[in-house]
Amino acid sequence: MIGVTVLGATGSIGVSTLDVLARHPDRFRAVALTANTDAERLAAQCRQHRPQYAVMVDPTAARRLGELLADMPDRPEILTGVEGLEQVSALPEVGYVMAAIVGAAGLRPTLAAARAGKRVLLANKESLVVAGALLMQAAADSGAELLPIDSEHNAIFQCLPPNFSDGLDRVGVRRILLTASGGPFRDWPLDRLSSVTPEQACAHPTWDMGRKISVDSATMMNKGLEVIEACWLFGTDTDHVQVVVHPQSVIHSLVQYEDGSVLAQLGNPDMRTPIAHAMGWPERIDSGVTPLDLFAVARLDFQEPDFARFPCLRLAFESARAGGTAPAVLNAANEIAVAAFLDRRIDFPGIAAVVEGTLEALPRESVAGQGLEFLLDVDRRAREQAEHLVLVRG
Ligand code: NAD
Ligand code: MG
Repeated sequence: MIGVTVLGATGSIGVSTLDVLARHPDRFRAVALTANTDAERLAAQCRQHRPQYAVMVDPTAARRLGELLADMPDRPEILTGVEGLEQVSALPEVGYVMAAIVGAAGLRPTLAAARAGKRVLLANKESLVVAGALLMQAAADSGAELLPIDSEHNAIFQCLPPNFSDGLDRVGVRRILLTASGGPFRDWPLDRLSSVTPEQACAHPTWDMGRKISVDSATMMNKGLEVIEACWLFGTDTDHVQVVVHPQSVIHSLVQYEDGSVLAQLGNPDMRTPIAHAMGWPERIDSGVTPLDLFAVARLDFQEPDFARFPCLRLAFESARAGGTAPAVLNAANEIAVAAFLDRRIDFPGIAAVVEGTLEALPRESVAGQGLEFLLDVDRRAREQAEHLVLVRG
């Protein structure tokens, strides 16, 4: 029996994770479930999955959770704050930690899981973008396994040989082909993008996801963050990662080898496949996903990404090449800009403008020898700068 902590249990990935977990009661048990503010949903999940711990980051919501679970026999111990998240990420009875908090807020608990040597099921790509060197080193030091949940990275992982960490050039990889749907505005006239509403941006053509990542898909910042994520996970650089727009989201990514072979992983766009893959690995377990019907898919299309239409993708590539603090600044500014767009404080093109302005205002610094506190300070400063730019634009 493997004990599992689900960070971000109430979100899109969290719910899919609990769905997979419940299909294998002989294999997994939920030890801890966490959420930010949604006490009602976490209470319902606690009644169904009976964890030992429930973490509500927000203290008021934690009290509410206590009231909601007052009559539950064997009710979970309720913890709060980021400390609660870190605690349940490092419990001895936990083998696997699903890191599915959205944004840099997931960094501390994800790092705690990596330091504690857990199998980290990594959905929270932002933590790698902000602190890739720190997280990879923590995993190497403790022996933690970092298994990608992001569908593209999970696909790449499946297409690589087991010894890929020796170096992609050593195992004959020429490059990684990272697929992207292109989001809902791939074919919109450019002059209409300033009229995009949050509802339109969150209506993704192929994936059903949380609001932040849905907006990131619409700007293609998501693909930019994923390029940086791929560089860390697979020990490579942006020259060896090519973005391929593939609107059907059936091929989840590909690996091109020296001998001309290209290996791909395909499946219906349902996050339970990468979740079940990483939870079962190296075995294969049922995910509940409908088998792919190639006759129903009928055709697969591919296009080059349009960097003029998607300036966020360009900014992410530039930040990845610049290195140092640039990816952390990019991520923080994007989180602020996306939240401002969702609150209707800036328009859709304003997201890229705020990110670009923040990158210009905060010159790149080296991260060599720096720890978590330094990166969190960079994150804080970039958020302040981005908030300022939102006010100026609004
Ligand atoms: P979501 O918004 O649906 O859920 C986010 C979860 O994080 C919720 O449980 C929420 O309570 C928690 N949370 C939010 N802010 C928090 C904070 N400050 N402190 C602690 N917890 C907090 O998001 P999602 O779509 O499930 O995405 C989660 C992560 O997985 C993101 O990093 C995203 O990029 C990544 N991801 C998601 C998908 C997808 O299909 N949804 C695919 C690939 C990667
Ligand atoms: Mg992805």
